[in-house]
Amino acid sequence: MKLFIPGPVDVRKDLLKYMSKPLIGHRTREISDIQKRIQKNLRKIMKTNNPVVLLTGSGTSAMESSLCSLVKKKVAVFSIGAFGNRFYDIAKAHSLDVDKVFFGFGNHIEPKIFKEKLQSGLYDVITVTHNETSTGIMNDLKTLSKIWKQYPDVLVIVDSISSFGGFDLPVDDLGIDVLLTATQKSLGLPPGIAIMSLSEKVLKRLEEVEERSYYLSLRRIYKKHKENYQYPTTPNISLMMALDYQLDYIVNKEGIDNRFKRHKILANYTREWAKKHFKLFAEEKYASQTVTTIVNTKNLDLDKLSVNLKKKGYLFAHGYGPMKNKTFRIGHMADRTLKDLKKYIKEIEKSW
Ligand code: PMP
Repeated sequence: MKLFIPGPVDVRKDLLKYMSKPLIGHRTREISDIQKRIQKNLRKIMKTNNPVVLLTGSGTSAMESSLCSLVKKKVAVFSIGAFGNRFYDIAKAHSLDVDKVFFGFGNHIEPKIFKEKLQSGLYDVITVTHNETSTGIMNDLKTLSKIWKQYPDVLVIVDSISSFGGFDLPVDDLGIDVLLTATQKSLGLPPGIAIMSLSEKVLKRLEEVEERSYYLSLRRIYKKHKENYQYPTTPNISLMMALDYQLDYIVNKEGIDNRFKRHKILANYTREWAKKHFKLFAEEKYASQTVTTIVNTKNLDLDKLSVNLKKKGYLFAHGYGPMKNKTFRIGHMADRTLKDLKKYIKEIEKSW
């Protein structure tokens, strides 16, 4: 079954094989060496010198870890869809003081409103979803970063779960305090590890915030990483080994820029096709580079389409939540080739 959903994604056979290697201990020099290499390559992709730590858990664990470890005063959640809203739910679950600024499904973060909220001086943490997987909208971080850089006391958490590895996110240039992501999207691995880069300001804040969680405590995680490149609890060792292997592939075999370019080609191809036969859900300037949401202007029976595609060996993605039958999504991320994407799209055409 080929997964054309916006994550989890197809994982290359060599990677799957690599994951079946015999285990090593989590308190060994080998595991520290693996973590060092992982950090080195993640820093190259993120274009940062900040420490990069892992957390055994899905992407949500990094969302929760960063929120519960960093908010001292109040957090503003800037949401454009289901995953932005999740930050709000997490903040509530931890009884944090939180405001949600919701721009609506299909919209992007409006810089003017963003600036007004930051100007209020109410917040010491904000969250921004870079790529909202539920709608296929990518926020414009270059523009937003010009605003948040004017408020150096506010820590900026960016969720790049479904874009990291498929889109250039230069952490230092953008001034991102926590860039968080997960393995199962554009990085092309199975789910199970979340990744976070931590700025100087974050490291300082970690010392100032009361501990609200044991497992998710960033202070605890960073302390051990700093000590000997290990983790407080047993990490997902097989997946760490695969991450190490895949990052080497991205940095030294495919090449970081080539990977971003390939994602752009896949996105452009999908968009052109969508515009020819349907309509893009996103305003094109904000269309995602890793998942395209298409308005079902032909009123196709998407359940039937999904069943037909399944018979051909493809997993299809409906729209998200209330947009389930009005839109559909095509994931084009990780190690997907243009050839495979074209084949999938041909199959969709045959089914209507
Ligand atoms: N944020 C975004 C943008 C996502 O796409 C997802 C997963 N679809 C999540 C958060 C949640 O990640 P996970 O399912 O790995 O916990």
